[in-house]
Amino acid sequence: MNGSTWIPLPPPSKRPAPAPAAPGFLAAATGCPWCGSRVLESFVDRAPFHLDSCRTCGVAFVNPQPDATLLAEHYPKGYYATDPRSRAVRDHLRWKRYDVSRLLPHLRKLAPGRWLDVGCGIGGVLVAAKRAGFGVEGVELSAEAAKFGTERFGVPIHIGALDDFSIAPESYSVISLFHVFEHLRDPAGDLERMVGLLRPGGALVIESPSIESLSAGLFGDRWFHLEVPRHLFHFTSSAIARRFEELGLRAERLGSHHAAHGAASLFGSLFPPKPGLPLWRKVVRRGAYLATKALSPIAASVESATGRGSVLRVIGWKPPAAR
Ligand SMILES: [Zn+2]
Repeated sequence: MNGSTWIPLPPPSKRPAPAPAAPGFLAAATGCPWCGSRVLESFVDRAPFHLDSCRTCGVAFVNPQPDATLLAEHYPKGYYATDPRSRAVRDHLRWKRYDVSRLLPHLRKLAPGRWLDVGCGIGGVLVAAKRAGFGVEGVELSAEAAKFGTERFGVPIHIGALDDFSIAPESYSVISLFHVFEHLRDPAGDLERMVGLLRPGGALVIESPSIESLSAGLFGDRWFHLEVPRHLFHFTSSAIARRFEELGLRAERLGSHHAAHGAASLFGSLFPPKPGLPLWRKVVRRGAYLATKALSPIAASVESATGRGSVLRVIGWKPPAAR
């Protein structure tokens, strides 16, 4: 046996072999759907849902995933506000304008072109991108939200998932996903498809809640943005950047600060939503919300000053065409 080299293998997954799919669920993954590692550990239990996390890349995910019927129950009617007089519609437009305006300085060197927003809801990103001079298009699963956005704001929104359409390769200068990537069932597969749709020199933009944020660390399994089971995945900016590089994109990581996201995170983690509260508890809750909202800019600044702000933002730049 002298001279032979023994290379230790990674320990087997701590999870037992997958059981047959339970009613309402797909088969459990035995490896990380993002990086392929088989070294998983149990992360959060929120019955009937369970999250694992990958010890190799740090990505956490709902495992097993709920099937389409069970998942749809967690996107109730009215998930997207479509009453034009509502504060929710105004907030959507305001915050998407904020998201786009702080992204635009990073896109200065882009030649004008078309911008595709994936999971665009009622189209706030499209409204802001159009104003900035881009040709815009959105794709959205909710027919109600898509129709409202198209009729109200005059921006074209396709109803469905990206997979439901045949799209010419290299069609877009910008493809963005603002707080959508974590909802996808197969983000690794979808990412490859989107890279193909990007023009040479184009930018693929992902913004998503950060599992590395200070609030995620502080609140643990009470962290609001776990949003079980709608958030099927939780990423780190390095896991996304690494995959961008593997796909031939140059990764540019942006700051992790977000003025509004921190407030939602703080309040939702401290006071998780509870249906059926009596009126006096609702009044107290409203007061707590206003107090948290007032404090949240400070909390968001503290959080991002530690380098662990509430969101991850990564741009993947496709190399320009060779001349
Ligand atoms: Zn992994």
